[in-house]
Amino acid sequence: RAKQEGRNRYCFFAIELEQELMKRQQLESRLRHALKKHELVVLYQPKFKLSTQEIVGAEALVRLLDEKGQFISPADFIPLAEESGLIVELGKQVMLKACEHMKFLSAKGFDLPISVNVAAAQFSSAELEQDIKDALAFNMIPAKLLELEITETALMVDAQATQHKLEQLKLLGIDISIDDFGTGYSSLSYLKKFKVDIMKIDMSFVRDMLNNKHDFEIVKTIISLGHSMGLKLVAEGVETLEQQNALSTLGCEIGQGYLFSKPISAEQLLRLLEK
Ligand code: C2E
Ligand code: MG
Ligand code: MG
Ligand code: MG
Repeated sequence: RAKQEGRNRYCFFAIELEQELMKRQQLESRLRHALKKHELVVLYQPKFKLSTQEIVGAEALVRLLDEKGQFISPADFIPLAEESGLIVELGKQVMLKACEHMKFLSAKGFDLPISVNVAAAQFSSAELEQDIKDALAFNMIPAKLLELEITETALMVDAQATQHKLEQLKLLGIDISIDDFGTGYSSLSYLKKFKVDIMKIDMSFVRDMLNNKHDFEIVKTIISLGHSMGLKLVAEGVETLEQQNALSTLGCEIGQGYLFSKPISAEQLLRLLEK
């Protein structure tokens, strides 16, 4: 009997595993198809200067469409893109689309800085610099309007290589920001050598900063660390007025989050800028 039960259990897991695998394959073919047809959608989440409520930039966030035309979240397909090696092509297409949208906004009179997320594999790929140069030149966008967001974890994979890479990227004239700061484990001795301009405080700390003393202290410490290194601070995931006020009091310059705006299309962003 025990043997029988064991087998049933085994079958149960086998079926689950198979379903999981099928879902994965479907998602991967969906992604391959979208890349082939250049059908990825890029949305923008504006960044606001806390003291004036002005829009000072926006972050490009990729979306994949399912068969019904609904958005699939990057949390679901970015890891898959990383494992399957599609992430480099994905990153290249997002970069290009972001530059096209910068050109679109610029034609309407808004030279808005845009940041693009760069995955670890894309960051270490040899083509990154050329892809950036091409995307900028093709759309006649000055490099100073482009910012790359690289997670703290990705920067620390190979700190020595990172240092070199950042120096090369900075020569292009673009800005670099450390994304999700506080969730990785940075070596401070490397951090001070890295040529970065902006630090983004991870939203997990912002979320609880007003009801968890430790999170509050972490936010405060990140802001003072960033400032002492001469960096600009951006808080992610600002959802309430109270959080905005607290961040502002702590000296954080810029905020991003549902309090201000969710990610929106380039056309919606234009309308927001025109207001
Ligand atoms: P991220 O770069 O840290 O982006 C912030 C994420 O938080 C976005 O999710 C954004 O929509 C969400 N968010 C913004 N404000 C709030 C808020 O107030 N509350 C909450 N709960 N969430 C908020 P999204 O667009 O689903 O992206 C998730 C992650 O996927 C990004 O995290 C980034 O790591 C990755 N990603 C997105 N687009 C790209 C891309 O083009 N390339 C690469 N390599 N990664 C991307
Ligand atoms: Mg980001
Ligand atoms: Mg982030
Ligand atoms: Mg994040």
